[in-house]
Amino acid sequence: MKRYLHENKWEDIELYLKKSTTILLPVGSVEQHGKHLPLGTDSILAQDIALDVADKTGVLVASPLWYGWAPHHMAYPGTVTLRPETLTSVVEDVINSLIYHGFEKILIINGHREANLPPLRIALTRVRNNTGAFVGIADPFYINAVAGRELSDVDPGGIGHAEELETSVMYDRHGELCTPEAAVKNIPSDHNKYLQHDPHVLTDKILTASDVAHYREATNNIGVMGDSTTSDKEKGREYQERLTNNIAEFVKYLDDLEVEIRKKDIPL
Ligand SMILES: [Zn+2]
Repeated sequence: MKRYLHENKWEDIELYLKKSTTILLPVGSVEQHGKHLPLGTDSILAQDIALDVADKTGVLVASPLWYGWAPHHMAYPGTVTLRPETLTSVVEDVINSLIYHGFEKILIINGHREANLPPLRIALTRVRNNTGAFVGIADPFYINAVAGRELSDVDPGGIGHAEELETSVMYDRHGELCTPEAAVKNIPSDHNKYLQHDPHVLTDKILTASDVAHYREATNNIGVMGDSTTSDKEKGREYQERLTNNIAEFVKYLDDLEVEIRKKDIPL
């Protein structure tokens, strides 16, 4: 059995469904990641996570979705964004197709923290209520929250975009695609105290939206928000190991979970 759905034959899938109805779906983004990381970082990381969990558990991995919702990153060339309703629709159709064939537990591996979450959660809410299937999102920031805090060496404001931990994993797994000497620190100090972007900073916050017209300025014409200079391979390896152990443990829980499918529809 191959780890990716699309690398198997239909008979392999029929056989797999006799022993498991769980499948992972990596979803990422193709968007600028500063001058030190490639555009595909979020998708590459989501796929790596899913394949590592497959190695640990034998779970099948659905063909990945490369594109996500990334409008503000359009300030830099190469970024591709879907409209949020497109992402919701694509995810709904993919999951409904999987459910039609007998999958009952679908876990999205989200490589693009925060921005992808609203459209993904709308898709999940619809699928869950229409079909009864278990649907969930494993997002590194949330499923590896403890390791994220323990391994981080950045100053307050250091968590943002193209920063420490995703950079560290990329250095460990895909060094040939990275340019460590171009890593930078960008922690803005002149913002209103309610506009702190770093989720690790415990403070009272107003939520706002990033604006493509001001995004280059906000990210110093480089594309980093936070600190990527404290990244290293070893940190990336430990972060990835703890992350994939957590998801593997949850996949084992899913294997024993009883789910009742109420309805199956072919997307039309
Ligand atoms: Zn990223």
